[in-house]
Amino acid sequence: MKLIIECVKNVLKKPFTQKYPEERLEIPSWLRGNYVYDKEKCVYCGLCARYCPSNAITVNREKKEWCVDIGKYLFCEQCAEVCPTKCLVLGMEFELVAVGKGKFVFRG
Ligand code: SF4
Ligand code: SF4
Repeated sequence: MKLIIECVKNVLKKPFTQKYPEERLEIPSWLRGNYVYDKEKCVYCGLCARYCPSNAITVNREKKEWCVDIGKYLFCEQCAEVCPTKCLVLGMEFELVAVGKGKFVFRG
């Protein structure tokens, strides 16, 4: 009997899950989403690449090239913390979907 009561209670409860994407959670302000990079402010010092634990960033100072592979991304924010010009921050975008690994490589 106890089990039946518990089952009925759970059937009548509001579900814990949400019907994404129709229903969306409120995004917390501390979210570490996709990177936001400002090429104009970048000095190509390479600190972001040096501190990235997954080697997701490559920097070529001579050619002034900055590249990130989101497929390797950990969303740890270490790159943004060490960036001296704050041209690299983690933004609020988190819906990252692509077909093929190459689509996750971005060049700045
Ligand atoms: S740490 Fe900042 S300024 Fe230096 S290369 Fe990376 S993004 Fe550019
Ligand atoms: S958030 Fe972490 S994993 Fe992603 S590029 Fe920055 S340091 Fe690397």
